[in-house]
Amino acid sequence: MDFTYLTEIVYLISAILFILGLKGLSHPETARRGMHYAEVGMLLAVVGTLVSGKILTWDFIIVGIVVGSAIGAAMAIFMPMTAMPQRIALSHAFGALAAVLVGVNEFIALSKHGEISQALMAALGFEVLFGALTITGSLMAFGKLSEMISGSPVTYKGQNFVNILSFLIAVGIFVYLIFNPTNSAMFYVMIGLSLAIGIFIVLPIGGADMPVVISLMNSYAGLAAAATGFAIDNKVLIIAGSLDGASGFILSIVMSKAMNRSFANVLFGAVGSPQVNTAGLAETRPITRFGIEDTKFVLEQAERVVIVPGYGMAVAQAQHAVRELGDELEKQGIKVEYAIHPVAGRMPGHMNVLLAEANVSYDQLLEMEVINPSMDTVDVCIVIGANDVVNPAARTDKGSPIYGMPIIDVDKAKTVIVMKRSMATGFAGIENPLFYEPNTKMLFGDAKKVMQELVTEFKKV
Ligand code: NDP
Repeated sequence: MDFTYLTEIVYLISAILFILGLKGLSHPETARRGMHYAEVGMLLAVVGTLVSGKILTWDFIIVGIVVGSAIGAAMAIFMPMTAMPQRIALSHAFGALAAVLVGVNEFIALSKHGEISQALMAALGFEVLFGALTITGSLMAFGKLSEMISGSPVTYKGQNFVNILSFLIAVGIFVYLIFNPTNSAMFYVMIGLSLAIGIFIVLPIGGADMPVVISLMNSYAGLAAAATGFAIDNKVLIIAGSLDGASGFILSIVMSKAMNRSFANVLFGAVGSPQVNTAGLAETRPITRFGIEDTKFVLEQAERVVIVPGYGMAVAQAQHAVRELGDELEKQGIKVEYAIHPVAGRMPGHMNVLLAEANVSYDQLLEMEVINPSMDTVDVCIVIGANDVVNPAARTDKGSPIYGMPIIDVDKAKTVIVMKRSMATGFAGIENPLFYEPNTKMLFGDAKKVMQELVTEFKKV
């Protein structure tokens, strides 16, 4: 029976579902539905391939489905939400590994018979070049994000020259292979060099720039998958890979913009070096501590309160308690808004997802550009487990590694309450002068516990 048409129709439906999925992801309200579209699209793409009549033997496929599903399910169930960036980095490495293995397999199978055309070599070469550097680049990002290796940038003299030269040599070999497609030695040298490039390009990138690296790796993995589609003549792979490549690239630009950093700057800039403080001088100003009762008192006097969540809220899983506090304040007639920084937390949209899960209304979520102009009219700003995204050094200290990154201007509010466990630094590892400002009050403790105590205090009334 010829299943070709059936497979093509199924591929078309899955491509439409991928596009609808991406569209859905553009708004928090439709994001969940978007994910479901994409899931069904992926299921159809797999089923379409299985019924295409091109399967020669099922043994490895069944083993692959069982082992892959077990690893995927375990990662989804056991890895916490806060480990999402490293989980995504690992998925990119797996995706790229699959593309490279398919490419190498095609190369071995076809070069035996001397059947590799120049066009096929162009697709295979692109696939393994980008695939290989994505494998090691993503594993490096995984290592840095999970703190298995130091998140600080590793730099040395002439690094940019070495990186650019290695990439140019790899591209040179790629072009050579297009004209000499059967030269297997060069094919494997290119793979080896690309694996090394993946390590080289992530070495100088500091932890603070990892969001951009992850989305860039996403883009490369997509491009490698699209090239795989050309190499093995699979249309859904071409479409899905191109969508992934393009959306990953756009996301990288959005993230770079959010951090006010150019691509080149991210790739060669070395942000996140450990340092004592931004000006090189130890902060000597005293801090002002607040307790639960002081906080309640100040909040009760306010007319407008802005809540700024960050990574600490995610770790503590404090979002429900934060929403309850918001509800209590609103009951007292206080206007409550939530200010969302685009790179708060550890993945794009992290805060939106958590606050949506806690049923905070979407109208109350304000983006940084919307809230900042009126920050000086805010009575109280409560910063919950955020640090880098509210660090005024980004605005005022030219010597700071995060200088130029847009931040939420909480320091302009009449009173700022910073809620965290200690004076420790955030992800970028840099001091925050906000904590020492005269209008800042430090409220120490675990975000969930402190928020619950505050809610209890308000309910006592
Ligand atoms: P930060 O990492 O700057 O700061 C988080 C703060 O939360 C810490 O200073 C910590 O202080 C506090 N904290 C940790 N646990 C708790 C807890 N249980 N209760 C209360 N507080 C806690 O977070 P931000 O959200 O401000 O900034 C995000 C950073 O992550 C940026 O540098 C960004 O570039 C980076 N990043 C973002 C990604 C993204 O896509 N969004 C991906 C990867 C990195 P203490 O220990 O004293 O409690």
